[in-house]
Amino acid sequence: MRGEGRLGGRAFVVGAGIAGLAAAAALAPFFETVEMFEKDELADSPRPRKGVPQDLHVHTLLKGGERALESLIPGTRAGLLAAGATEVRQTEDVSIWERDAWQATRDLGYSQLMMSRPAFEHVLRRQVLQLGNVVVHDRTPVESFPVGADLTLIATGRGDRLLARIEAPETVLGIEVSYSSARFAKSARFRGERRFIACIPQPPDDRYGLVCPIENDEWLITLCSRFDDGVPDDLDGFRAYAEALPVPDIAERLRAAVPLTPVRRYRIAEARWRHFERGACLPSRVLPIGDCISSFNPTFGQGMSVAAGHALELRDVLANWQGSLDGVAAAYLARAAEVSRQAWSLAAMVDLEYPRTKGERPPNFGRLVTGTDAMRRAAVMHPEVQRLRFEIGNLLKPDSAARSGPAARLVAREMARAGGRARER
Ligand SMILES: Cc1cc2nc3c(=O)[nH]c(=O)nc-3n(C[C@H](O)[C@H](O)[C@H](O)COP(=O)(O)OP(=O)(O)OC[C@H]3O[C@@H](n4cnc5c(N)ncnc54)[C@H](O)[C@@H]3O)c2cc1C
Repeated sequence: MRGEGRLGGRAFVVGAGIAGLAAAAALAPFFETVEMFEKDELADSPRPRKGVPQDLHVHTLLKGGERALESLIPGTRAGLLAAGATEVRQTEDVSIWERDAWQATRDLGYSQLMMSRPAFEHVLRRQVLQLGNVVVHDRTPVESFPVGADLTLIATGRGDRLLARIEAPETVLGIEVSYSSARFAKSARFRGERRFIACIPQPPDDRYGLVCPIENDEWLITLCSRFDDGVPDDLDGFRAYAEALPVPDIAERLRAAVPLTPVRRYRIAEARWRHFERGACLPSRVLPIGDCISSFNPTFGQGMSVAAGHALELRDVLANWQGSLDGVAAAYLARAAEVSRQAWSLAAMVDLEYPRTKGERPPNFGRLVTGTDAMRRAAVMHPEVQRLRFEIGNLLKPDSAARSGPAARLVAREMARAGGRARER
């Protein structure tokens, strides 16, 4: 089936980041050739690049994203492991301090692969080029919608300028998140450790930290804040910020770690979801994917996985497509919007808990917060709730799975208890 051209001769993809690569893999079985256009020069080794300034910061790949990529490009998981990804077992190799407690340590039956964003991209690019009918033209910026293809995917990311000209309804959250990150060599005591550590604050506290075990037995450490309280970008300030986190685990690792890069900053003012599915006037046979549709608060680690989810929906639509490609947009955009919706609602719940986040709170927001908190508490006590929470958060199951079944009943019981505690106060 690969490259048979059942649906057309040429497909174009603008942007060769994660969304562009996933899009190319989704298109490859149905078009004779898939041509990608990328403004940056693409090196033949994993290197940070200008067009993806976020690639210096921790990028976690959710389990749902890994599965989607494996389905699009069989052999991805093996390729990531061969390139040095760290396999982190959930939750034996994970220490997550969430608000006021450590998440329980249990075997959830899942593992996640951790590496730097340049390394993820490098492996994916190699796998996609091995499909045989995909070519990448690097150093080729695209200034207007290209012509000459049967279908064109726009994967130009958060800073997109092509689709920015198209009017579409939007949901926007003013999140004002600041990232500071650097790569470190581990001190002798921690060498070989594959522990992923996260310190997730209780709003309105906004100090957030991540230690990610990446390739070459290095750490990529990211510290975050919200609003005007930026994380310092000098090493002493970075270390002092870690020392002030509610748990010592990140500071402890930082103390004797040797920096391999300077501390680099990135600021994200807004999370943005563009509703192209609601009748935006896109040029015929031009489709958005990835961050062009929805870009989230990155602390939830969703963007690459959502891009892979969009691509999977595109492939499924194309696999069953008969007739003119003009109709693909409506079918694909509705399905891509559902992928974005789940990720968006998980992240927005937490973002909106911060009183300074600009955005519309739903009328039942208080009850939603109580429900989310009840699930977090129930997960500490009950393995089945912890597994379900992992599966929903990792985009393996729809969020509706939390509304029925035994785990949902345990959450409901915890919610009733929380209601009782509130009444006693
Ligand atoms: C600080 C930060 C941390 C993040 N952490 C995570 C995380 O932990 N996990 C996760 O899954 N996601 C994370 N993300 C999100 C993630 O980076 C993106 O969601 C994901 O990479 C998909 O992006 P994309 O491919 O749509 O866009 P991008 O990765 O931005 O790629 C766009 C590509 O298009 C190219 N391009 C742009 N304009 C043109 C043009 N006119 N012509 C040709 N080429 C063009 C660019 O050079 C680039 O290669 C994070 C984001 C940020 C900002």
